[in-house]
Amino acid sequence: MKLNKQVLCLECREEIFNPICPRCVSSEIAVWMLSQGKKAKQAIKNEIKNILKGNNEHDYTKCIVCKGHDTFVCPYCFTERVYNSLKKARVGKKVLAEFLALFSFDLEHTGYAKDAEKLPDLNLGYCEDLEKERFI
Ligand SMILES: [Zn+2]
Ligand SMILES: [Zn+2]
Repeated sequence: MKLNKQVLCLECREEIFNPICPRCVSSEIAVWMLSQGKKAKQAIKNEIKNILKGNNEHDYTKCIVCKGHDTFVCPYCFTERVYNSLKKARVGKKVLAEFLALFSFDLEHTGYAKDAEKLPDLNLGYCEDLEKERFI
């Protein structure tokens, strides 16, 4: 295999082992976003726009899914940024837990996946906190 081009993620500066481009990841997120509230939608849209602006003149590894777009941010950094934007927008814990369950690329659980431990387990139904939240 020849190692050419720019292969480092713009965000974490590490090699991208799982080249799925931001557009492909965001289209997955966009489908999920439709069932979410206004706050979450707005946060996601803004953050994705910002990330997509990050591509510069470099030639990056092509995405393994669409095979067309450059993968200039690794899926981990991409989802982490979207996740952080959701946190900043103060969406409910259930939304955060769902996001992590669906889009976590933190396979080694060293980054944001740790948060999932503090969030309600979706399979166990509502915890007390969420019950309260629903009636606010
Ligand atoms: Zn990265
Ligand atoms: Zn792609």
